[in-house]
Amino acid sequence: MFQLSERQRELRNELRSFVDKNIIPQAGSLELSGGFPRGLFSQLGKEGYLDLCFWHLRPGAKYGSTESAIILEEIARGLPSLALSMSPHIQCMNLISLYGSQELKEKLLPAALKGETLFAFALSEASGGSEALAIDTTASFVGDGWVLNGEKCWITNAGAADGYIVAAKSASSSRYRDVSLFYVDAGTPGLEDLVRVPLTGMNNSPTGTIRLNNCKVSAQCLVGRENEAYSLMKVLLNEGRLDMAALAVGMAQCSMECSISHTSTSSRYGRNLASYQGVSFQVARMYEKIFMARNAMYTVADMFQNQQRATMEVAALKLFASEMCVEVCRSAAQLHGAGGFSRFSPVERNLRDCQMLTIAEGSSEVCQIVISGKLYHAQPGEY
Ligand SMILES: Cc1cc2nc3c(=O)[nH]c(=O)nc-3n(C[C@H](O)[C@H](O)[C@H](O)COP(=O)(O)OP(=O)(O)OC[C@H]3O[C@@H](n4cnc5c(N)ncnc54)[C@H](O)[C@@H]3O)c2cc1C
Repeated sequence: MFQLSERQRELRNELRSFVDKNIIPQAGSLELSGGFPRGLFSQLGKEGYLDLCFWHLRPGAKYGSTESAIILEEIARGLPSLALSMSPHIQCMNLISLYGSQELKEKLLPAALKGETLFAFALSEASGGSEALAIDTTASFVGDGWVLNGEKCWITNAGAADGYIVAAKSASSSRYRDVSLFYVDAGTPGLEDLVRVPLTGMNNSPTGTIRLNNCKVSAQCLVGRENEAYSLMKVLLNEGRLDMAALAVGMAQCSMECSISHTSTSSRYGRNLASYQGVSFQVARMYEKIFMARNAMYTVADMFQNQQRATMEVAALKLFASEMCVEVCRSAAQLHGAGGFSRFSPVERNLRDCQMLTIAEGSSEVCQIVISGKLYHAQPGEY
């Protein structure tokens, strides 16, 4: 079993108290009213809980990968859509910090770390989806800056974000892998926030489409080198998969805790529900799955921390954790009877929220493509 250090266990307890006190009491009403909870987000920033780094590369980052996974997991236990919105924000901060121009770093990072501003990462396009490199958005260097044209869909934090990192193909290159990243302020002329997509769940994480219509940004807005973002995107996708695993573990934990509380306090046919093994065994299976996913998550986070290659491992983790979460949330809703079908119940919210985990950041099928691809090209003994 993966052993957390004493400091990491303390951090988990600190986060649990924070979430129990500040997030859970308002999670139900926030979910029903929808919208991005900016107040809570900036509270997280003030506490330092946005200063996360999954690859332990960002100089001065307060938390490394394992601590970052703990923080996302605990926040997802309280309000999954807040944790979902944090994921691209943190990815963008780390990108700017590591690969952005000095101008971008100075202008953007202090407010972003405090949760005063929010970022979004715009990669997906209608014709791409799982094929992340199928990008039609173009960037042309004109005069002293870049002109972007294209449309990005399913973007977490669209509309609420103060800035976007946009993936585009340079107009001068026709190579499939030649992708560049650009920072675009939300207020840049030509950036249109088109539609907010009503989703099945994740109601406090706005998702939508943006259009870039002759949208001009300065040369300093290039993040990383021109045409060389493919390797950064691979790192980001791996980080995103660890984020989704943390969300899965946190949501499943919440559903299991609700199930223990409900079945030990509700009686049917003169007995506690929990006294029926048909009920308590379901809770035992929840724990078994969460335990496996959580341990795998810390193992992968530790590999990230030590800068080990973990593409296959994080794909396996994301596949297992997201499918596990769907099973646990389904089982928890069943154990709550009609209560599990009520809009006022966290288990019902988790049941809706968890569906996206098997789609975003590499669907379950894409994760299987990654794993099988690696297995069939590995040398014996490598796996
Ligand atoms: C809530 C939410 C938030 C998101 N946030 C962001 C964001 O912030 N930024 C961003 O850029 N994108 C974001 N996305 C988009 C997300 O990355 C895509 O939805 C994902 O890549 C899948 O693409 P798609 O929806 O077009 O599905 P498709 O690619 O059309 O896939 C449809 C189905 O086909 C399967 N499939 C596809 N290819 C294969 C294959 N080769 N073999 C077998 N099966 C296959 C898939 O697994 C899936 O089941 C978000 C999506 C959601 C739902």
